[in-house]
Amino acid sequence: MKAVVFDKHGGPEVLTVRQVPVPSISPNEALLRIRAIGLNYNDVWGRRGLPGMDFHLPHISGTDASGVVEAVGSEVTNVKVGDEVVVNGALSCMACASCIRGEPFVCAQFRIWGFQTGPLDGAQAEYGKVPAAHLVPKPANLSWEEAASMPLVLVTAWRMLVTRARIRPGDFVLVWGGAGGLGTMAVQICKLFGARAIAVVAGEAKAALARELGAEFVIDRKSQRVVREIQKITERRGVDIVFEHVGEATWETSILALKWGGTIVICGATTGFQAGVDLRFLWNKQQNYLGSHFGTTAELVDALAFVRRGLIKPVVMKVLPLEAVTEAHAIMEKDEVIGKLVLTP
Ligand SMILES: [Zn+2]
Repeated sequence: MKAVVFDKHGGPEVLTVRQVPVPSISPNEALLRIRAIGLNYNDVWGRRGLPGMDFHLPHISGTDASGVVEAVGSEVTNVKVGDEVVVNGALSCMACASCIRGEPFVCAQFRIWGFQTGPLDGAQAEYGKVPAAHLVPKPANLSWEEAASMPLVLVTAWRMLVTRARIRPGDFVLVWGGAGGLGTMAVQICKLFGARAIAVVAGEAKAALARELGAEFVIDRKSQRVVREIQKITERRGVDIVFEHVGEATWETSILALKWGGTIVICGATTGFQAGVDLRFLWNKQQNYLGSHFGTTAELVDALAFVRRGLIKPVVMKVLPLEAVTEAHAIMEKDEVIGKLVLTP
């Protein structure tokens, strides 16, 4: 089968498109004929390599996919050949005490598909294998490309806002990157819960998209000062929730924008991992700084129910063939993504 493979870490030039064997499946796994693949920033981290983390080489990236079940292992009962599905790429054993408690992130076998799996085990290929328990029916109202664009960002934003930060009607929610993959989901979840999204974006095109998706307020960080605008919008009170995934470049502003008793929830840090905390704020202002990682299959099922009703919509910027994967990485690294990029095999 055709796949995007890298044999060593480096710039986009290490990515090759070549023939590799179709994966073989174990009793609890399903083989998918992949129809579309959503790109995520993890694909860039994987290609570059991360200090202290061993990747399986040669490596196929890709955590989001839509496709058709081509074959199933002998123990699989939840899907059958021909089913149209999407993948929750947060893989775990689904059998240990942590998994049964709904805490797969504590599972000793927790790993992100196409990031921590391998060698040659990810979505950017014509076929892929995953444990069948992580397959969810594809919403019929979405195209293959739209369906592949959603799972990771949708379930991550859902877990951050709904499960972890416990979003409520009327909450002011500062959404960094309001026109990006995660941000477009976060803005729509805010609207769904009757919360008041304040989307931070760069430039008029991204501002228009954030408004269209339901952001009540939009701050253009190219021409406006974020903290000053937040103070105006919230009448100096600060926001109830900050939706963080940028990290080093925004963390200080996130803390300044947060109300007493407010919550910052963070799922990643695309600009760097070092950030300071003035401990006086933490206790005097009784603020909450919460981590959140990916999401469970149950959370994905919950969120997709609203996708099926058209209340959360996919935002696909561009669909490219596998062969254009280096172009896709360049767009991501230049921070030019609006919504999501999708590859087709
Ligand atoms: Zn487990």
